[in-house]
Amino acid sequence: IDRILCRPCIFCVIADGSTPTRLIYKDDEIAAFNDINPAAETHILIVPIDHVKSVKTMTTDHIPLLEKMHQKGIDLLKERGHDPEQSRLGFHVPPFNTVDHLHLHVVGGVMKSNFRK
Ligand code: 5GP
Ligand code: ZN
Repeated sequence: IDRILCRPCIFCVIADGSTPTRLIYKDDEIAAFNDINPAAETHILIVPIDHVKSVKTMTTDHIPLLEKMHQKGIDLLKERGHDPEQSRLGFHVPPFNTVDHLHLHVVGGVMKSNFRK
């Protein structure tokens, strides 16, 4: 069988806690972990535990989930001493994304040279 067909969603597996990637936060709805290729001093990804493909596949039912992800981003920025007003929280929208499991980028502090606008 083609391995591609068997490849699981990487963010589903990370959120499940089944990889060495340390989870900064996890509850029954969301998980947070450091981006493997940080664009700044702080670069956290916040994902829903349940697979949601992207902002484009969301419905208004997802609004509470989005608000929770956003609030967790704000809390984690403050914990790390960043001013949320000086930070970036956002999604890359298909086709300008690379991982097809919804993830909120939480970027704070000094930017690194690999930062993409
Ligand atoms: P996007 O799809 O929003 O453009 O970017 C995906 C982000 O996920 C990138 O910033 C990339 O560095 C990060 N990423 C991709 N694969 C992994 C992984 O296996 N582990 C972690 N921690 N981050 C990843
Ligand atoms: Zn997934």
